[in-house]
Amino acid sequence: MSDVRNICFHGVGQPHRELEPGEDVYWVTEDRFEAILDEVAAWPVPVRLSFDDGNASDVETGLPALAERGLTGEFFLLAGRLGTPGSVDAPGVAKLVAAGMRVGSHGMAHRSWRGLDAAGLEAEFDTARAILAEVAGAPVDTAACPLGRYDRRVLASLRSRGYHRVYTSDRRPARAGAWLQPRYSVRHHDTPESLRADVLAAAPLPSRARALAVGTVKRWR
Ligand SMILES: [Zn+2]
Repeated sequence: MSDVRNICFHGVGQPHRELEPGEDVYWVTEDRFEAILDEVAAWPVPVRLSFDDGNASDVETGLPALAERGLTGEFFLLAGRLGTPGSVDAPGVAKLVAAGMRVGSHGMAHRSWRGLDAAGLEAEFDTARAILAEVAGAPVDTAACPLGRYDRRVLASLRSRGYHRVYTSDRRPARAGAWLQPRYSVRHHDTPESLRADVLAAAPLPSRARALAVGTVKRWR
């Protein structure tokens, strides 16, 4: 199975809401965002783009930049922030969908999904998903874990609810068809060059390494 690099953006430009502690690390300038898009679009490996948190910049900056380049992305929106200042609203979601972008769930309240009780899991996994599906006018069956946090219970719960792909922030390559998809989040100090060094220098997946080893043996036989 081939491997992919999942690249994740958060906010672009100036935030129009108060950021959570430590969140500013994931906001990049518009110029840097565009330069990084051009960079990853030129990589010799498959790349998938996603946007977390449902910031207004998804629609104001992310969408036109993707469209200009013929790229698509998956937008992990927060049901609890839809239509609040600084976040994507229902018309914005409609624009994303109309442009061929996919919508996934980042849950309801941007809290860790670890240690939630049954009501918390229901709110984050079921209610949030239903709200997003309603606004997007399409089923939502992918999720991205807020704050990159998850454990076996979170994953088992998502799986039992029928989510068919779950994204993390574990900074390593992903297998194209895998249920769990690690991603590289872009940070404010990243440049096209630093991201390339970080992502493309990552050790190949074991299956790739085995395939290469087998190929070598075959060539030498
Ligand atoms: Zn988030």
